[in-house]
Amino acid sequence: MSVYWNGRVRALSPYVPGEQPKDGVFIKLNTNENPYPPSPLVLEALQKAAGEKLRLYPDPESRELREAIAAAYQVKPEQVFAGNGSDETLAFVFAAFFEAGTSAALPVLFPDITYSFYPVYAGLWRVPFRTVPVGKDFSVNPEDYLVPAGGVVLANPNAPTGMVLETAGILRIAEYQAGAGRVVAVDEAYGAFTGGAFLGAASAAPYIESHPNLLTVHTLSKMGALAGLRVGFVLGREELIEGLRRVRDSFNSYPLDRLAQAGAVAALSDAAYYGEILRRIIATRERTIASLAALGFETLPSQANFVFTRYPGKSGAELFTGLRERGILVRHFNKPGISDFLRVTIGTDDEMAGFLEACKSMLLLRGKKRQR
Ligand code: PMP
Repeated sequence: MSVYWNGRVRALSPYVPGEQPKDGVFIKLNTNENPYPPSPLVLEALQKAAGEKLRLYPDPESRELREAIAAAYQVKPEQVFAGNGSDETLAFVFAAFFEAGTSAALPVLFPDITYSFYPVYAGLWRVPFRTVPVGKDFSVNPEDYLVPAGGVVLANPNAPTGMVLETAGILRIAEYQAGAGRVVAVDEAYGAFTGGAFLGAASAAPYIESHPNLLTVHTLSKMGALAGLRVGFVLGREELIEGLRRVRDSFNSYPLDRLAQAGAVAALSDAAYYGEILRRIIATRERTIASLAALGFETLPSQANFVFTRYPGKSGAELFTGLRERGILVRHFNKPGISDFLRVTIGTDDEMAGFLEACKSMLLLRGKKRQR
């Protein structure tokens, strides 16, 4: 706390990212990174871009990248907005489409269990919000979002549950909210892991043309194995994209540097490579869910590159600590309703074997302690 902070900063509750340990002693399953390297074409493109031209500003409109995204997602380049990671584009979505807190402003809706950055953006831009409880089975019920609101934000697959809401449900919400002129933003950070290459099987992106208030938000961090490059993008009708550009150009006209633009274009050109690693991650996820079940864990039906799992009779904090002591880093959220769960990123088969071994050793230890 500092006397120099303004009221806005004093009121913030910033997002806390997962730990990024400096040494390599951990099997790192805590921030949903891709365990495989990016396409070799990306590394080639980065090397080529790391030259004399760095003295020049990058293309503020990321034209080439937006064309590559448009081709991959079968939309128009004017329907694409690119930013410095999807976190930045989400912050712009809150700034562009959700009304700040006057008494007249209706709250933006999102589930009570979802990506914990949404309330942080709302705090930053002073947008009122209301969290909607998920069902007992952690599912999101579209009916709950058919009410007057300031807008809707849904992660699909949801985080940290990994559960998918059917496209029909998303479209019903979009259609209802369109009547009131409200935007529905669908965060598809994990969409590619529902099957298929970049787009994913459960994407709402094919409906942005028919639904003028619908936005989908994407990232190359997970599917593109490029969390370190910071490339995210939003798809929506031209007028919505124009709204995001207005915010960007009131904040930072060059959110994507030359390297990020070049690397991202190369990634999007290698659907074959990414199709292969995505298939591998999905197969490892299915094997991991089965192995966890065999050990007595209860795991939600994830279609993402992570699983949300609990072990009856053990707290999430205990499991987290037990795994950490065994060199496995996972994510634990000390939040009502989910404090017994761990979110475990799907790594390589070897990493998951290490994780499962650590689980076994931890559970055996518990058995021994009990006998005493
Ligand atoms: N949305 C969700 C649901 C996420 O889990 C994440 C990753 N923490 C992001 C968006 C942001 O991803 P990035 O900024 O790396 O694109």
